[in-house]
Amino acid sequence: AAKPKILILGAGYGGMMAASRLQKKLGTDRAHITLVSKHSYHYLTTWLHEVGAGTLHHDNARMEIRKVLNPGKTNIVQDTVTGIHTEDKTVTLKSGDDLSYDYLIIGLGATAETFGAEGVYEHTYHAWTLDGAREMKDHIEFQFAQYPQQKEHKDKDLTFVVAGGGFTGIEFIGELSERLPELCEHYDVPREKVKMYVIEAAPSALPGFDPELVEYGMNLLEQRGVEFKVNKPISEVKEGLVILKDGEEIPASTIVWATGVRGNPLIEEAGFEANRGRVKVDSDLRAPGHDDVFIIGDCSLIINEETERPYPPTAQMAIQQGTAAADNVTHLVMGGTPGPFKPEILGTLASLGGKEAMGTVSLFGHRKLYGRSALFMKHMSDNRYFTKLNGMALALTKGRNPL
Ligand code: FAD
Ligand code: NAD
Repeated sequence: AAKPKILILGAGYGGMMAASRLQKKLGTDRAHITLVSKHSYHYLTTWLHEVGAGTLHHDNARMEIRKVLNPGKTNIVQDTVTGIHTEDKTVTLKSGDDLSYDYLIIGLGATAETFGAEGVYEHTYHAWTLDGAREMKDHIEFQFAQYPQQKEHKDKDLTFVVAGGGFTGIEFIGELSERLPELCEHYDVPREKVKMYVIEAAPSALPGFDPELVEYGMNLLEQRGVEFKVNKPISEVKEGLVILKDGEEIPASTIVWATGVRGNPLIEEAGFEANRGRVKVDSDLRAPGHDDVFIIGDCSLIINEETERPYPPTAQMAIQQGTAAADNVTHLVMGGTPGPFKPEILGTLASLGGKEAMGTVSLFGHRKLYGRSALFMKHMSDNRYFTKLNGMALALTKGRNPL
């Protein structure tokens, strides 16, 4: 019989884990495995706040897919997916090519959520991609570089607004505030001219997270000069201007958007029933009504039965789903039955710039971590991903020294 065609869309956390696992489990004897990626590299979305603030070079946050996967086992197609057509089991690509599949795994990641605020796409840095983060960094440095040369200083040029005090916003401002003294010195900019705001709709940053940790993080950032504006939903953005729902206006040449995410627009365009672009998948990670389509990572939605709320979309989840989807496809190829996916949430860790971090871990019980010990655990979890993806060698070359 013809070997089944397994098509994986997106080389993010979910897609890469799925491909790596399928290579190992099925090899070339039992299936044709194809991975479609926009770029020749896999980038680490979870490190992009560092790239965006300029505390990590973008090359450190990416790796060539061919060096991680085995091109002899996985056919790597560098192209952009433009459409998913479940009725005839094909995927269309920007190059004009079509790919057909027997089993599809969709891991196309997320895009910015605006909640109806106008002007976000036009006037903010909202793309949490490698290219988007690098552009953000270059823009920030340009704001500093031009300042000493200006005949007339405009306050907004050195005003940095982060929209949304969720984990992305907090981690980003953590990096920027940590780097600020170096930026000021490098570009001859007086420190007192720089303003940094985090604008949050909820009554505090990181709503719903452990209050002691939130306080720790907010205090630390305030000491570095970050000003929090809470209970302040943003309603609109214009060129160089943030407009709050209560009418307040904040002129700022740098607006970084981080008010949450929605699934890749291709999901809704393909006709899947979705909630903010995320498909509520069956327990085996298949799209309801589609026996041959698995959806993982930020494009998928799973309800946490304990809280009756969706699990937040995280890399931790995408990695586990990538593995589980690969195992379920393997079952189908081998004539078995897919099994249920059970997430194992090991904790939440957020970096705050420099050696600072905070978070919770469920390891020998539930505990809170602050500072260096939190950063140690965060680096260890990154290294664990590299080991899972491609063994110790990748962890040693790409991983971070936890000490
Ligand atoms: P991604 O890893 O984002 O990958 C999607 C891939 O699809 C990308 O490679 C993209 O290029 C590709 N793609 C998109 N569209 C197309 C197309 N049309 N054609 C071809 N390819 C396409 N989560 C944690 O668990 N821990 C953290 O510490 C953490 N930190 C974060 C920090 C930041 C700054 C951000 C923004 C997020 C963070 N997250 C964290 C969340 C985490 O990054 C995401 O949940 C995770 O990346 C989702 O994995 P994914 O595989 O669904 O998508
Ligand atoms: P988020 O949904 O976690 O946070 C968005 C924040 O923006 C919320 O606090 C929300 O109240 C606020 N907000 C929404 N609309 C607003 C408005 N109009 N004006 C002002 N504030 C507004 O989104 P995120 O931070 O982008 O994170 C996306 C996902 O990635 C989440 O699941 C998150 O857990 C995950 N993530 C995890 C980490 C980590 O574990 N270290 C880091 C970054 C992101």
